[in-house]
Amino acid sequence: MKKLIPWVLGAVILTLFSCGEPIEPQKPDTPTSVSFNVQPTSLSFTGEGGTQTITVTTDSKNWKAATTGDWVSLSSSSGSGNATISVTAAKNGSERRMLTLSFSDASGLKGTASVSIVQEASELPSVEIVPSPAAFDGTKRSSTTYQLLIYSFADSDGDGIGDFRGIQNRLDYLDALGVTALWLSPAHPTGSYHAYDVNDYNTVNPLYGTEADFKALVDAAHAKGIAIYMDYVLNHSGSGNAWFKAACSDPESPYRDYYVFSDNPTADVPAGKIDNYAGAKNPGMGEWHEITVGNAGYKGRLHFKVDWTGKTKFVTVTQTTEAAQKSNASATKWLWIGSSGNVGLYETETDIFEITLDVDTDWGFLVRSSNSDSWPSGTKYGAPQGSGPVKFGEAFQLDNSGSCGDITFGGSKSYYFASFSGSMPDLNYGKYTECENSPAFKALAASADRWITEFGVDGFRLDAVLWIYQGQTTANQRFLQQWYDHCNATYQATGGHQGSIFMVGEAWEGHGTEKLYYKGLPSCFEFEYWGALQKALSGSAGDYASTVVGYIEDHLAQRPGSARTSFHMTNHDQNRAASDLGKDMAKEKQAAAMLLTSGGKPFIYQGEELGYWGTKDNGDEYVRTPIMWDKAGKDCAKKGVNNKVDNSMLTAAISVESQDADKNSLLNVYRTWSRLRNTYTSLGDGHMHQTTAVTGGGNSIAAWTMSFDWEQMLVIHNCAKSEKTVSVAVSMDNPVALLGTASVKGDSLTLGPNSSVVFKIQ
Ligand code: MG
Repeated sequence: MKKLIPWVLGAVILTLFSCGEPIEPQKPDTPTSVSFNVQPTSLSFTGEGGTQTITVTTDSKNWKAATTGDWVSLSSSSGSGNATISVTAAKNGSERRMLTLSFSDASGLKGTASVSIVQEASELPSVEIVPSPAAFDGTKRSSTTYQLLIYSFADSDGDGIGDFRGIQNRLDYLDALGVTALWLSPAHPTGSYHAYDVNDYNTVNPLYGTEADFKALVDAAHAKGIAIYMDYVLNHSGSGNAWFKAACSDPESPYRDYYVFSDNPTADVPAGKIDNYAGAKNPGMGEWHEITVGNAGYKGRLHFKVDWTGKTKFVTVTQTTEAAQKSNASATKWLWIGSSGNVGLYETETDIFEITLDVDTDWGFLVRSSNSDSWPSGTKYGAPQGSGPVKFGEAFQLDNSGSCGDITFGGSKSYYFASFSGSMPDLNYGKYTECENSPAFKALAASADRWITEFGVDGFRLDAVLWIYQGQTTANQRFLQQWYDHCNATYQATGGHQGSIFMVGEAWEGHGTEKLYYKGLPSCFEFEYWGALQKALSGSAGDYASTVVGYIEDHLAQRPGSARTSFHMTNHDQNRAASDLGKDMAKEKQAAAMLLTSGGKPFIYQGEELGYWGTKDNGDEYVRTPIMWDKAGKDCAKKGVNNKVDNSMLTAAISVESQDADKNSLLNVYRTWSRLRNTYTSLGDGHMHQTTAVTGGGNSIAAWTMSFDWEQMLVIHNCAKSEKTVSVAVSMDNPVALLGTASVKGDSLTLGPNSSVVFKIQ
């Protein structure tokens, strides 16, 4: 083997130099790409953020990292060869986000890898509520009643007084408002504009139209699914009623028994002889008014001597031929007599006052200790109750108590009782245990039967039921039950298309007394409701639902199964709701939303839906303002309230025409929420319950549920003037109504000022 080495070496040398130039050794190939392997290929961060790591395996000697967003930071964004990189995400806000982290070679060699990174939101998104109620199918499910004043609602014949045809012409307006019944002010002949002094229960007021017009109105209303409730005044009639005139002119008249008469109430009341008092000794309301049958007056020359010397005062009247005297202008004692008016007496001795006078009086006379026409207390001296006429030449004792009457020269005196005023004498139904047998009951029942059977009315609103028997609950309960049963029997005999006749009483008292009247009637107005609603709207709403539910439950306890609580804001005898709310339009809108989402039977008072304001300070007419139908005032029944209207309110801006055109008007809020109530049976005819599903938000939040069968609504109102957030423990996926603003974030609901929302939860 040693002999071969020189030979091999020579061969190699020969080979290297055999071409004349040295041969370069061959180099390895230059890489054109690199490899990247990144694990994991996706990262997911919570909304709170944090740090995670990724591992990069690569043969790149000069790699770089880039992101499609700027919300993560990397522990290194370039390097050579393998690496471990920390990826840090900060806390995220209210929206989910994602980006891509890419690796590539900085020298331009091919080869990349990427990691997708997602981060959830730390806060859920806030979603504005957009209500999506079911379409209204035309079937009204609520029993919403509109209180309408015939004299000031709408005039059809240009005389400025509202009338039946005026109402009929506006039935579309009432239908669009979602009402299912009208409570009409008294429709009968009357001596006043307001018509609560009925002069004939058997027919209609000719100022309003004919009986045929009334019948046409009832029929047209029925065709639109609107019932008609008449206002029936059972406590008293008008003093112009033929019954009363006959009773006053003839003590033997059969109509004497229709009213509450006494020749001496001072004695008869404590003796328990007045059936109307039902045992009460001091009913606390009402007055006795004197009437004289026969000639009470005198014409001729008389001498008057008034004795003021003792505690008891006397007058002695004598016929005389002495010369007549003129009135003493500086007198301290006076007569008020017939056509002479105020006549001053002469003081002839200490505290003895006299005059001779030519007298012409058809009613008698009075003595006054003042010449004032205003009758201040204590200056009027007349005849004691139960006394007869004066007898010439005899001293007649004077009385200056509140019950004293005229001093007459003849005729017979009597007194009638009136709870409200002398122009409204109370009707007499005898002993309450047999009231249905009294002539007055039978006469009024016969009239009611006619309105039910011949005209088709669907119910009655009964005025002043507390005073039928002077505040005597047991007596009134029995009377009302008799009355209701009678009318309902008539109604059902005619077909009774609404099942039972509806009847609501004006038992204007605190809830504790008012609820007892459900023993006699299926419904009474809950007059405390408006106070509860105003309290809520003042920002103290936490107990609204429990209060309202309490009213309803109390009424049902009195009349299980058929009690139907009537809720209203105000009526024709109260200051307007808008005035009570300080003309705060946001509150007025929310008042509508709360009334129309509460249980019971809601009443809307004419003009409330337009934001009418007004107080009783200058007269009741100012809370009974006619409807301004269009900007020009067409059909506006101003004469119906004696032209007593607040012209600063009754402008084009408040008209139906203007509010029609404004989708955010109060009128359109009423229409929207009334349609909602008619769309869902749970709202229109359901049961109201307190709820524990809504918590937080403070005392300005009122929340409850309305349910019927399986349908259930959650109703929430924020009565504050600021935004409030509550937690809601049920689904808010199906909002069906919204007033104001509201947004949902997770299980939180944020309601704007005076904002309301309804969710369908089942
Ligand atoms: Mg008219």
